[in-house]
Amino acid sequence: MCERIPSSERGIGFRAWEAVELAASAVPAVQVQQVMMPLGGLVDRPNALAWAREAAARGAVALGGAPWLADDPSRATREAAEVAAELGIGLDLHVDETDDPSVSTLTDLAEAANDAHLSGRAVAAHCCSMASRPIAVARREAEALAEAGVAVVVCPVSSLSLQGRRTGLRGLAPVRLLREASVAVGIGLDNIRDGVVGLGTADLLRAAWLPGSGRRWSGTTVSSAGSRRA
Ligand SMILES: [Zn+2]
Repeated sequence: MCERIPSSERGIGFRAWEAVELAASAVPAVQVQQVMMPLGGLVDRPNALAWAREAAARGAVALGGAPWLADDPSRATREAAEVAAELGIGLDLHVDETDDPSVSTLTDLAEAANDAHLSGRAVAAHCCSMASRPIAVARREAEALAEAGVAVVVCPVSSLSLQGRRTGLRGLAPVRLLREASVAVGIGLDNIRDGVVGLGTADLLRAAWLPGSGRRWSGTTVSSAGSRRA
């Protein structure tokens, strides 16, 4: 299964969506599921909400988004969950993609997924700042995600390309800690090859090799001081 996230914003409507459908039809062995990815909040932007509804009608499997970038991340997270539930699709958010330990929407996401009955249908990608927080805090967040049925998808190639520039931290969600808390954890690719990831490939096994080979920084070795340099 390959999941693609075309944005309907930037004035291109559903052209990217249709291009993916066309490309997928040429490779029947690959199952492509699409997710609509609005940038920022939803409810205050009628266009984005309309795109979300149209995407669901076109077969979107989940509503995407990056509510941690919104002016009010907590509200934007809750709204995204409510809209996904209303549309009867899953929730697939890009979450806390920063080294800044003060940026955390995981507890909000767990609560929102619970309230919207999205257990087993909600995904949090990235969760980078989790690795910057004290281990006891990260563990509580992992337990809340597990309880709410929110899976975490680690994107090693993208996160290692984007994070750590300011702090030197690795910026990768703590895989082992998440698994110890019984969170379903997957490996994804946010970028295959673009301005952010210049040397990437679509090879997921290669992406999985990264946290596997860097067990020290993808495990429970988040320091009790909340910061760690590799
Ligand atoms: Zn992302």
